[in-house]
Amino acid sequence: MDDRIRGNLEGVRARIAEAARRSGRGPDAVRLVAVTKTNPPDRIVPLVEAGQLDLGENFPQELWRKVEALSARPEGIRWHLIGHLQSNKAKRTAPMVRLVHGVDSLKLLRLLDELAADLPGPPGICLQANCSGEGSKHGWSPGAMLDDAEAIASCRSIPIVGLMTMAGYGTTDEEARPTFAALRELRDRMRDRTGLELPELSMGMSGDFGAAIEEGATLVRVGSALFEGLDPP
Ligand SMILES: *Cc1c(COP(=O)(O)O)cnc(C)c1O
Repeated sequence: MDDRIRGNLEGVRARIAEAARRSGRGPDAVRLVAVTKTNPPDRIVPLVEAGQLDLGENFPQELWRKVEALSARPEGIRWHLIGHLQSNKAKRTAPMVRLVHGVDSLKLLRLLDELAADLPGPPGICLQANCSGEGSKHGWSPGAMLDDAEAIASCRSIPIVGLMTMAGYGTTDEEARPTFAALRELRDRMRDRTGLELPELSMGMSGDFGAAIEEGATLVRVGSALFEGLDPP
């Protein structure tokens, strides 16, 4: 099992490096967040031992359990919450993570901004946009985010480092590309309106991270490709 996971990781890293090159950037311009949701700690350890220290979880409670289970690892894991964060779980979650990818409302942003004022090293956050227009997804529509630009910029304690979107589970590169391009364009407009630099674009999953990188992703969230060939957990 460990060999399989290591091999998958190497394959994903190689594909990331190749896509970064196609977009005229070096491999270090794109960070892999290994999405470990549903996988138990014994499947996560081989990743960490191979130097994969950015790990993403979808659900706060599962994140808390994994942080606890892997707390003795010496490598310095950087946890990312990539899924929806409910307000009542924000206080416990914020100190555990490096980045909250899916901040999807002004209400949650303001809560995190309040919490950040009391944290020595608050997490960065990405604003989640729904760029594919599907009703089932969390996040601001592009128009609504632009309307909220001033209110967003007034949150000064929490570092707002970029934007995040989901094209959809199982989408292919070409299906997802317009969504990724739309996120980049929205970032450029938000940059103009807020004066925030917004360097991070969190976009791309197992089926579509190549296109995401070509469209400017700096963070890709890849899960199933890392655990391919294993029995479902
Ligand atoms: C599960 C998940 C991913 C990873 O998806 P894969 O297709 O397994 O790579 C990325 N982002 C979010 C928000 C997820 O929930």
